[in-house]
Parts: sequence; structure tokens; C-alpha cells
Amino acid sequence: MTAGQGANPKAKWEPVIGMEVHVQLGTRSKMFCGCSSDYLRPAPNGNVCPVCLGLPGVLPVINSRAVELCVKSALALNCEIAERTKFDRKNYFYPDLPKGYQISQYDLPMSFGGHLDVAGRRVRITRVHLEEDTGKLVHAGDRLHSADRSYVDLNRAGLPLMEIVTEPDIHSAAEARDYATTLRALLRAVGASEAEMEKGQLRAEANVSIRPVGSSELGVKTELKNINSFRALFMAVEYEIRRQADVLDGGGTVVQETRGWSEPEKRTFTQRSKEGAQDYRYFPEPDLPPLTLTREWVQTLRTSLPELPAARRARLMSSFGLSDYDASLLTTDAAAADYFESVVAAGVEAKPAANWVVGEVLPREQPWQISPSGLADLLKPLSAGSINRDQARQVFEEAWTSGRPPAELVAGVAQVTDADELAAVVDSVLAAHPQAVADFRSGKQQAIGALIQGVKAATGGRGDLKLASQLLRTRLSE
Ligand code: ADP
Ligand code: ZN
Ligand code: MG
Repeated sequence: MTAGQGANPKAKWEPVIGMEVHVQLGTRSKMFCGCSSDYLRPAPNGNVCPVCLGLPGVLPVINSRAVELCVKSALALNCEIAERTKFDRKNYFYPDLPKGYQISQYDLPMSFGGHLDVAGRRVRITRVHLEEDTGKLVHAGDRLHSADRSYVDLNRAGLPLMEIVTEPDIHSAAEARDYATTLRALLRAVGASEAEMEKGQLRAEANVSIRPVGSSELGVKTELKNINSFRALFMAVEYEIRRQADVLDGGGTVVQETRGWSEPEKRTFTQRSKEGAQDYRYFPEPDLPPLTLTREWVQTLRTSLPELPAARRARLMSSFGLSDYDASLLTTDAAAADYFESVVAAGVEAKPAANWVVGEVLPREQPWQISPSGLADLLKPLSAGSINRDQARQVFEEAWTSGRPPAELVAGVAQVTDADELAAVVDSVLAAHPQAVADFRSGKQQAIGALIQGVKAATGGRGDLKLASQLLRTRLSE
């Protein structure tokens, strides 16, 4: 039996998942040297120096902004901040690692023991620590296995990376995805990173095992890598849960290993068997002094934290009467919540503002093409009844694609609601349809339909038909 075809694994097996997330911190320079963090713009290897190239005799210097962003993120994750923390060398050989070791943190991480509440469930955070990014290998040819040579680009080497590790507290693919989206919102709110998965600014690895429902022991886990989107995270974990269930149901055993996610094939595959931690021969980085994080400084950072997504969600619900659903979606991205609040500040009621931001603005790629005040210029006439829903949609689409101000477009389609203007139209329509008038007066109620159509045609579809119908009835009953 292949994965994907088995019986529902949820009845018998409980999935257990722990997440390891790497985040590129939004600093201006790299972690231990003065090179720019903008590693994509320069030509390959155009953004390197003796320090990040790992040349002999150079000394790293800690980027204090990276420490600050890491501590802020850890505080937002309810972690304890270490008073003393240090860096360690993690030794391994790979061509994208010029020094032969990565500077990371082993036994004294920057912070530990926090939690993040995800859709009402608590996920414990084991630790948050700092390290440096590696370079990139560029394979010539279309596919990895058929490439005949690979190039090394070290522009990314030495960028500050923050690693966030959870306890195995997650129990479904949906929860794994929700953990990642909730974490992204938090990181954006504290200004740690844009945390775009597609850009590799947030890299999520899921450790997945299953155990019989009711058991409290941990099963053998596999670690899933190469996950480039929230959707891929969901699919990879879902696939892996089912694969492991099929293996165990078939009498086999799950092998502890690292598995890659194949996006085109929508499946996980063996990458390598897992090496033990001792293989890395961790030892304290001799070129960096241990760091003392004073309580005063940590307290300053704590008080400087902005309103976090969970608090903002609660506030959007209590002060604007939004549903949990709308408030949750709006706070997935501080930019969306800011946008919503600006639309309301421009005079739109909260409910329609939330509907439009959640339904029409948020799903579109940023930069958003209509400003909050532009959306207000569209929603106010909609609620006043001078344009209808279809017209509002059309104006929205046109404004979004053309960049023309919604106010100008609204003026072009606004309904004729002026009673005098409509009364004149009604009179001419009555005069032009004597048969329908006679039919209506002899008791055929439905004859009014033709007259309303007449008003619609005479106003080019812009007439307020409710008002027109009232005017018609009044004149017909005279
Ligand atoms: P490793 O030594 O393989 O890196 P760790 O103990 O450091 O493993 O844990 C790495 C991640 O895997 C953590 O997020 C942890 O919660 C998770 N994890 C550990 N054991 C399991 C398991 N049996 N099932 C699922 N997740 C696990
Ligand atoms: Zn450098
Ligand atoms: Mg580990």
C-alpha cells in the first residue's frame, strides 16, 4: 500500500510534531562582519569579506542589532532570557560553509522555556538562539541529479539566523501550519523579519512521529526539510503522518532520518539518515566572548515591544465587534490590521471594512494597490446606497488594476438617487409604456416589471431601482 491510500490514520495513531524554524533577521549587516545583509542584489560572491569567507586570522564581531531582534522575538514568545549566553562552533563539512564550522549556540542559548498560543492551544518553546546562515550552492542544469557542476555563492554566508525550537506539542498538519503562520505574524509585529517562506526568510522543519492513540511515549521521528510554503508544510506533514501509519500498519518500523519534500511529486523522500549531535563536535567559539545580557537592557526591550498579534486580535474583537475569524485573519499580518483600522478611521463601519479587507485586500499580493482611504471612498457610497454591491466590486477591480482613484470611478457609476431626477425619468417611462400602465391598473401587478426595466434602461443601469419602484407605484395609484 502506498502512502495516501491507507485507511484514515487518525483513528488509530496520534501524530506528534515538533518544529524547528530558522528565521533570517532583518538586520542591515551580517551576523559577525560588516557585509550588507542584502545578499541577492550583488553578483554572486560580490557581498563577502575575509570574515564571512572564513579566511585565516580574522575575528568575528557580534552584531548587536541581531542580538536585540533575537531577544525581542524571544520575549514575545514568553521565553526566559539568559543572563549569560555564548556562541559555539558546530563543525561539519559542506561546500556552502567556508569555515568548516557554523557559529551557533549549543548549551547556553540566548533564551529558553517560552510558549506560543496557536488557535487556543499552547505550544511550548524549547529555545530561541542565534547562529549564522550558510552560503548557497547553485547547480548548473535543470535538475540536481543531472547537473554536471555546482557553483558556490557565499553572499548569504554569515547572515544572522534565529532558530526557534518547540517541544513536540503539535498534533496535526493543520496545527503545524497554524504554528508557522502565527509565528510569522509575531515576528513581523516585533520587526524581527518579514519572514516570507517563499523567500527563504522563514524556513520550517517539521519533526514528525506517530504513536498509538492513548500512548504517552514518543515514536521514532523523521525530520522534514525543503518546505517552501505554508501549504507545502501542511501537505508534507499530512503525507508523512499517513506514510508512517502505513509503515507501522504494515508491520514495518519507521527509520529515523531526514526526509525532503518534493513539491512536484507531493511526497517526502529519504535524504540522509540522521547524524547524532556529537558528530558536530560542538565547542565554545574561542573568538567571541560570552555575552552578558543585563536585566535592565532586557527590561527596556520588554517595554518596547509593540502590541502583539494575540492582544491585537482581542482588541479588534472588543473595540470593533469583529468575529474571532475576521480578527484572527486581520492579525496574521500587522499591515492588514493597520489597513483595517485606517479604513475605519476614514469613516467606514467596522463590519463592512473587515469584510472587504479580509475578502478582497488581504488575499492579494502586497504592495496593495488601493489605499485605506481609497477603499473608504468606495465603501461609504456603498453603505449610503448610492452604488450597489456589484458596482462596488467593479470599481474595486478597476481601481486596483488601473490605479485610478476609487472616488473618481464611483462618481462615474453612482446611482441616480435624486428623487426629482428619477421622477422625470419615471414620467417618460410611463408615457412610453401605455400598455404596461393599463395592465397594472387593471390588476396585473407583474406589469410593473417592464416599467422598472424601462427606468433601468433610461438611466444606463444607474437608477436607484428601489426608489424608482416606489415612484412608479405612487404615480400608478394616482
Ligand atoms: P535532534 O537531536 O534529532 O535534533 P531534538 O531532541 O533536538 O532532536 O529535537 C528536535 C525537534 O524535534 C524538537 O522540535 C523536538 O520537539 C522534536 N522532537 C523530538 N523528538 C520527537 C518525536 N519523537 N516526535 C516528534 N517530534 C520530536
Ligand atoms: Zn563579510
Ligand atoms: Mg536538534
